[in-house]
Amino acid sequence: MLIQGVIERYREYLPVTEKTRIISLNEGSTPLIPAYNLSAAIHPRIELWLKYEGLNPTGSFKDRGMTMAITKAVEEEYQAVMCASTGNTSASAAAFSARAGLTCVVLIPEGKIALGKLSQAMIHGAKVIQIRGNFDDALRLVRTITENHRVALVNSINPYRIEGQKTGAFEIVDDFDGHAPDFHVLPVGNAGNITAYWKGYKEYLAAGKSRNLPRMLGFQAAGAAPIVLGHPVEKPKTFATAIRIGNPASWKTAEAARDESGGVIGMVTDHQIREAYKMLASLEGVFAEPASAAGIAGLIKLSDNGYFEDMEPVRGDKLQVVAILTGHGLKDPDSAIKAAAEPMTVEADEGAVLDAMGLEVAEPATV
Ligand SMILES: *Cc1c(COP(=O)(O)O)cnc(C)c1O
Repeated sequence: MLIQGVIERYREYLPVTEKTRIISLNEGSTPLIPAYNLSAAIHPRIELWLKYEGLNPTGSFKDRGMTMAITKAVEEEYQAVMCASTGNTSASAAAFSARAGLTCVVLIPEGKIALGKLSQAMIHGAKVIQIRGNFDDALRLVRTITENHRVALVNSINPYRIEGQKTGAFEIVDDFDGHAPDFHVLPVGNAGNITAYWKGYKEYLAAGKSRNLPRMLGFQAAGAAPIVLGHPVEKPKTFATAIRIGNPASWKTAEAARDESGGVIGMVTDHQIREAYKMLASLEGVFAEPASAAGIAGLIKLSDNGYFEDMEPVRGDKLQVVAILTGHGLKDPDSAIKAAAEPMTVEADEGAVLDAMGLEVAEPATV
């Protein structure tokens, strides 16, 4: 049978009934790609896998939570939904709302949204409102407005979002035939995803579907690292706009995921994120957006600091690591073009092209 999306696939773990009308774009079931080249470049004992969430229907993991949040908004007879967004939440909310026939309103920080994400919210017909403020300001406004009006909030403080997103953990354990990796790496912004993955891993263990739990390794950008610093950041800064958040809504549950799992929440500089972003694309052929590379940058940093030296794998002789690549690289083409070498321009002439290729012009054959 063709399974349509994460609610159908994992419905026994999700708050739906036989009567629920499921709003799905066939999200989830994303590939877990072995990263041979990156593993070798990072540490001889590491076996790295990339969960490519950029292959969800709107290009980010947000679709896992959004199918659940919009399904429940329809069930609870809302006509309109609203979110604050650094971009991907609005793209996802707009798409699922279009499918469900709901009005969607998104609040975004003016000028700080990657081009691809903004284009999605617009083409799906959301009402896009830019505010002169940052993500944290936008979320504060959305909370107030949805408390006082009959509009459903679909940010990750909506518990249905977390429910949907936890299916990512189920998929990883299912792909590994019943065990979790030793380490689970991901970027941390508003901290909903680390909360959701940890919940998913614990539920699968309790259900007897998984034999173990991973250590959770979350990474913030150094200019937007409130959890690492221990206080909110008034003016968060990073080119990884999806994690440009100074006061994460799921702060406490992210700390719980870290502490219960014996993991780490660390930070990486924009330079480290950019290097990891380029490595992913050039060594593995996997194009993820900058925020997604923060996890890889963090993994490299921990490895360089000797973190993995005393660690023992749960099984086999390698330390198994799954990194969540949260969003597709095409979301943010401007960052890619800035990070990569400029294309050459030459005359439409064989000699000029060969010269640009670094090849010699062949001598005419002598008789
Ligand atoms: C939303 C998002 C994040 C951050 O996830 P949180 O749940 O807010 O911590 C990271 N990367 C991408 C691409 C995102 O869209």
